[in-house]
Amino acid sequence: MPAESASLPGSVSEPSPPPPDPVEQLYRELEAKIREYRPKDDLAGLEKAFRFARQYHEGQTRDSGEPYMAHPVMVAHILGDMRMDLVAMQTGLLHDVVEDTSATVEQVRKEFGEEVARCVDGVTKLTKLDFFSAEDRQAESFRKMLLAMVEDIRVIMVKLADRMHNMRTLGYLDAERRERIARETIEIYAPIAHRLGMGKVRGELEDLSFQHLEPDAYREILGAIESRRHSNEEFLHEIRQTVEAELRREGIPARIDGRIKRPYSVFQKLRRQKITVDQVYDLMALRIITDSVKSCYAALGVIHNQWRPIPGRIKDFIAIPRPNLYQSLHTSVVGPHGQTFEVQIRTEEMHRIAEEGIAAHWKYKEGRKGPAADDQRMSWLRHLVEWQRDMQDPGEFMSMLKVDLYPEEVYSFTPRGKVIVLPRDATPIDFAFAIHSDVGNTCVGAKVNGRIVPLRSSLRNGDIVEIMTQSGHEPSKDWLAFVKTSKARNKIKHVINASERLKAIEIGQKYLDKEARRLGVQMSKVARSDLESVASEYGYSKMEDLYAALGYGKFSARQVLTKVAPEVVKEEPPEGKPAGAAAEPVPGNASSSSAAAVPGRPLDADAVIKVRGIDDLLVYRAKCCNPIRGEAIVGYVTRGKGVAVHSKLCPNVQSLMYDVERKIEVEWARAAADAFPVRIVIHTDDRPGMLMQLTSVLSGENTNIRSLEAKTEAEQDGGIVEMTVDVRDKKQLEKLVAAMRRISGVRDVERLYN
Ligand code: MN
Repeated sequence: MPAESASLPGSVSEPSPPPPDPVEQLYRELEAKIREYRPKDDLAGLEKAFRFARQYHEGQTRDSGEPYMAHPVMVAHILGDMRMDLVAMQTGLLHDVVEDTSATVEQVRKEFGEEVARCVDGVTKLTKLDFFSAEDRQAESFRKMLLAMVEDIRVIMVKLADRMHNMRTLGYLDAERRERIARETIEIYAPIAHRLGMGKVRGELEDLSFQHLEPDAYREILGAIESRRHSNEEFLHEIRQTVEAELRREGIPARIDGRIKRPYSVFQKLRRQKITVDQVYDLMALRIITDSVKSCYAALGVIHNQWRPIPGRIKDFIAIPRPNLYQSLHTSVVGPHGQTFEVQIRTEEMHRIAEEGIAAHWKYKEGRKGPAADDQRMSWLRHLVEWQRDMQDPGEFMSMLKVDLYPEEVYSFTPRGKVIVLPRDATPIDFAFAIHSDVGNTCVGAKVNGRIVPLRSSLRNGDIVEIMTQSGHEPSKDWLAFVKTSKARNKIKHVINASERLKAIEIGQKYLDKEARRLGVQMSKVARSDLESVASEYGYSKMEDLYAALGYGKFSARQVLTKVAPEVVKEEPPEGKPAGAAAEPVPGNASSSSAAAVPGRPLDADAVIKVRGIDDLLVYRAKCCNPIRGEAIVGYVTRGKGVAVHSKLCPNVQSLMYDVERKIEVEWARAAADAFPVRIVIHTDDRPGMLMQLTSVLSGENTNIRSLEAKTEAEQDGGIVEMTVDVRDKKQLEKLVAAMRRISGVRDVERLYN
C-alpha cells in the first residue's frame, strides 16, 4: 500500500544525526582536503584512526579549553597541507594516544598495521626527548631522534607538524613552558626542517618561536614593517611593473611575487650586521618564478641590465644547489630610488622544492614509501647516524651535530658534486679527511674551484674542492695547527704517533746497542728475560715500549745497562772528559768515527742511524749547523725531541758531549732511494691542471713530494706552488727543473735555500 510505504521513513525513526561537533567537522574538512589531491584513496583507515584516537582522548582538553582531539586532527591537517600520505596522516591522528592515553603501541599495531605502529612509536619516543639536559643526555636524545628519522622519515614530518600546531597555539601555555618549547623549536626543529629543505615549515617555526622568545624585538620589527608598508608596497608595485614589462619584452614567461621579508630573517640581519631596524633598507624582496633554467639566467640578465647589482651578492644556487637541494638565483640590486632590494629567480619545480623540501616527494611519487634512496637529504641523515655510531664521546657528537645543524657551517663539494659539510674555517685537509682517511693521509695539495690553494686556507660555501694525493705520503705535524674537525685531528695524531713510535723503537734499540758496546756490555749475553724485567720495572709490558722510551730520550741507555749488567756498568758515568771525544781528529766518514770509542771492535752497521738528510720524525738536522751530505756527522739523543744530527765540526757538539752517553752514531744513508729535500718555488699561470702536470713530472722521476703548498696571485693572475721534494743529487734536480720549465704556463722555477 502506498500509504503504508509512505509512512515508513517516519516510523523507522532513524534518529536524525546530531549536529556535527567541531572536531567531527574538522575531520570532515581533512577528508575533503585529502580527496583534492588523492581522489582515489580509500579513507576508511583514516576514519578508523580518527575514531580510535577520539575514543582514547575522550574527556581530555587542551590548555585552550577545546577538546584534546582537535590537536591531532589539526596535525593531520598540516600533514595534509604538506600532501603527505595516509600512513603519515593516520600517525598524525594517533600520535599522542600512546603517550597521553591508556592505548598501547601493540593495540595500534593490531588495529592499523606495522607501518603506522612504527611511526606512532617513533613520534612517541621523540616526545620524551630532552634537548636541554646535560650534554651526555642531550647527545643521547639526538641519537634517538636521528635513528627514528632514518627508520622512517615520516616520523619527523609528523613531529614537525605536531610542533607547528603546538607553536600556533602556544599562547595558552604559561611563560616557562612557552619559552622552553619555543627555544627547542628554534634550536632543534627549525634547523632540521631547514636541513630537509622544508623552507615553508622552517620559516613559520622560526617566526613563531621568535615571537615568543624575543617579544620586544618582534614587535619592533613588525612595527617597522608596518610603518613602511605603504611606501614599500608602492615601491614593490613599481619595480614589479618594470620587471614584468622587461621580461615580457624578452619573451620570458614569469610569475612575479613581491613580498616583505619574514620578521625572523630581518632580525637575523640586524644581529649579523649590528644595525638597527631603521637602517634596514631592503625589507622587500622580489621573486621571479619562470619556466626553465635558461629563463632563470635570462631573467637575471634582465634585472642586472635594469638595475646595478651589488658586488658579492649574486649567488648561483642553481649551478651549486645547497645541500638541502635548494636551488635559486639570488641577487641584490640598487633600485630606482637608491633602495636596495633582493631578487630571487627560480623555476616552478625549484620553488616547490624550496617550499616543501623532502615532503615534495610524496606528491608525485605515488606508491613509493619515501624519498629516493639517493636523495642527498637522506644521505645527510645516514651520515649522521654513521657518525653517532663511531663517536663514543657525547660532547664530540654534539659539537659535530651542531656544526651540521646550525648555520656556522661550510658546504663544500667534491668535483663530482658530493656535499661535504664542514665547520666554518675548515681547510682542504679537513675536507680530505672527511672524504676518507686514506685521502687525508696522502694529501699533498688542493685545488678549490679549479685554483690551487694553500692547504691551510679556509673553505667557503659552495667551494668545489679537489684533493691531490700522493701514495706513501704521510700527514704533517704542522697540519694539527690549522685543522678544524676532530676527525682530521684524530687521524693525523694517530698516524704521527704510530710512525714516531716506530722510529723511537728503532732509535732506542740502536742507542742501547751502541752504549752497550761503548761500555763493554755484550748484549748477546744479556738474557731477554732480564731486559723484560727492566722494562716492567719502568712500567712497560713490552720490550718495544722500553726501546721507544729510550728513543724518546725519557731515560738514558746507561741507566738500563746498569740494571742488566751491574757488574760491568756502574751507576755513575765515567769521569773522563766527554768533550775529549769530540775533540779527536774527525775522520772524513762519520760512520767510522765510532771506532774511536771502542777500539778494535768492527763497526756494527745496525748501530748506526741512517740519516736521509731530512727533517725526519725523531731525526732532524740540528739548526745550529744544518749538516749536508758528505759532512761528518754525529747524533745526539735529545730529551723528548728525538735525535739531533750535528756536523762534527759544529761548535755546539763540544758542549753537548757533556752527556756523552746520549751520543749516537749516525751516517748518511747510502741506498739508491736516498734523497735530499729541496725547496722549489714555481710561478705559473693560473689555470686548471697545472698542479697535476707538475706533480706528474715528479712522479715520472720517482720523486717524493714532502710538502706542497699552492696559492694564487690575484694581481698577476698566476699561481705559486711551493714544494719540498726529495732529490737524489744535483743532476736529478736540474733535470726536474728543466722538465717543469717545459710545461706550458710555467713562468719560472727557482730553488730556495732555507
Ligand atoms: Mn601532539
